[in-house]
Amino acid sequence: MRLLSLFAITASTLPIAVYAAEPHSYAQPDQVLVTHLDLDLTIDFPQQQLDGQATLKLNWKNPKAPSLVLDTRDLKIASIESVSADGKTAPLKYALASRDKQLGSKLTIATPTHPSQVRIVYTTVPEASGLQWLTPSQTADKKLPFMFSQSESIHARSWVPLQDSPAIRFTYTAHVTAPKDVRVAMSAINDAHHPLDGKFDFDQPHPIPSYLLAIAAGDLAVKETGPRSAVYAEPSVVGKAAHEFEDTEKMIATAEGLYGPYRWGRYDILVLPPSFPYGGMENPNMTFATPTVLVGDKSLVSLVSHELAHSWSGNLVTAASWRDIWLNEGVTTYVQGRITEALYGKGLADEESLLSARALEKDIGTMPANAQKLAPDPRGVGADDSLSAVAYDKGSWFLRTLEQRFGRDTFDTYLKSYFNHFAFQSITTEQMLAYMKPNLIEKYPGKMSWSEAQDWVYGTGIPKDAPLPDSPHFDAIDKERSAFLSDTLTADKLDAKGWNTQEWMYFLDRLPDVTPLPKIKELDAAWHLTGTPNAEIGMRWYTHAIDSGDKDVWSAAAEHMTRIGRLYLTLPLYKAFAKTPDGLAYAEQVYAKAKAGYHPLTQQAVESIFASAKTADK
Ligand SMILES: [Zn+2]
Repeated sequence: MRLLSLFAITASTLPIAVYAAEPHSYAQPDQVLVTHLDLDLTIDFPQQQLDGQATLKLNWKNPKAPSLVLDTRDLKIASIESVSADGKTAPLKYALASRDKQLGSKLTIATPTHPSQVRIVYTTVPEASGLQWLTPSQTADKKLPFMFSQSESIHARSWVPLQDSPAIRFTYTAHVTAPKDVRVAMSAINDAHHPLDGKFDFDQPHPIPSYLLAIAAGDLAVKETGPRSAVYAEPSVVGKAAHEFEDTEKMIATAEGLYGPYRWGRYDILVLPPSFPYGGMENPNMTFATPTVLVGDKSLVSLVSHELAHSWSGNLVTAASWRDIWLNEGVTTYVQGRITEALYGKGLADEESLLSARALEKDIGTMPANAQKLAPDPRGVGADDSLSAVAYDKGSWFLRTLEQRFGRDTFDTYLKSYFNHFAFQSITTEQMLAYMKPNLIEKYPGKMSWSEAQDWVYGTGIPKDAPLPDSPHFDAIDKERSAFLSDTLTADKLDAKGWNTQEWMYFLDRLPDVTPLPKIKELDAAWHLTGTPNAEIGMRWYTHAIDSGDKDVWSAAAEHMTRIGRLYLTLPLYKAFAKTPDGLAYAEQVYAKAKAGYHPLTQQAVESIFASAKTADK
């Protein structure tokens, strides 16, 4: 292979500088790399903890390295030993540093003999930031307890001691013991027909970064949706989920047609209880998904297109640090749009692009300059903060611009070659650009200048001539909204009978920040938005109604906030309530009841909204 630049080399010879760029991990990959993880865990529901051991296979890089440094957060370490090639063990000395609020506790293991493996015996705590434990009453079917992980971004360290950086990839195997009747699933190949005997074994033969390590266990039924796909969910949910996700095999085939074979084997979807803090998580082989997309009409299945797209952008070619996360999320949002277009038509794909582009246009100017960049200066950016609309929506807008300039055929061929070139590697923005320059920008001159491409990546705001798709439906909605707001059209005369989810989202997104209360009342009387089962519509509706001072929606809003723990659908309501003293007091009451059903990440986020509302008050 010809060296294109410092950055265009393979992962096995990645320069130290690339690894060292990840500030959210204590790992020292220039000294030693974890290449394989073997887990032996017991799920203890009464104590809400995982007990067991992690055995790490090591590849020593520096012959003089004195220690192995791992990331941990709130783990109770019982013992650490070395394991030699012939299986002999010997205890190792170690030091667990005091806890850093962001990073957790650095674990330094003295390793003078450079063992080929190290084994750590440990227990997690019930408050582990990457795990949520639900009692039977907090599940849909109320029969068995439930637990699941969410490792992205830096939460794997709260349930496994490891090098918790997206730059470091390892394979893993796991043996998990659970109560009988419970089914365990992991981010590996899962056997849909596995008996519920309390013993589960998993193998992930592809090297993955730690944030893709995942586990869930509970009362899970399985329903096949295709030759290589199935849905896992609680028994009362699984039928509905299998119906909503029945196009999964078509989605896989569509993505394969564009970007080459799906390399992971099976693609299953696990539907979690409503407290799951995200829409979906692209855990390899087993996407974790929120039940809030089960609306009955497939209008929100682009979530599956998104998580499936990560099988190429993110899981196959991975951002080497959290600062580069747009390589995962921006590229995936673009690919998601292509899958949606192929399956459900250009109209829907364009509506989704426009929704996100318009929302970004509105918000980006209010963000700090560094946060407006696709590849920001990593200093001062928290690992969870980097997952912002800029990474998703500015990133995908850049790719749609490239497609428009270079032509769809050329850009498809380019993107496919990019996925192949960097398959199973973690790369930086600079490596991505170093590949793009000769293989796209310079290969097809006159389409986009190098400085324009760099401006997209390193500049603030959105470039002036960024193309937007046309949507006649959205144009018509803009006209109707204006007529309604200027009193030339009453709410009941809005042509909204046939609006799909995205069209309602668009109508509500572009209402004034504080819509006059009589207008809110008129809309609700005509379209009965209060009490909607569609959480995307509900989130927007309640936020507007609370902002306009409509106390009649408060109890329905509280029901929405108690039922759903997904950050994106719940936080805007808390923020709206927190704007007034009455609202804040009410939101605190709601939270007191809802808290037990929330994920630790959601609890933290809500509490920080309350804290800043109170500081602003003083
Ligand atoms: Zn994503």
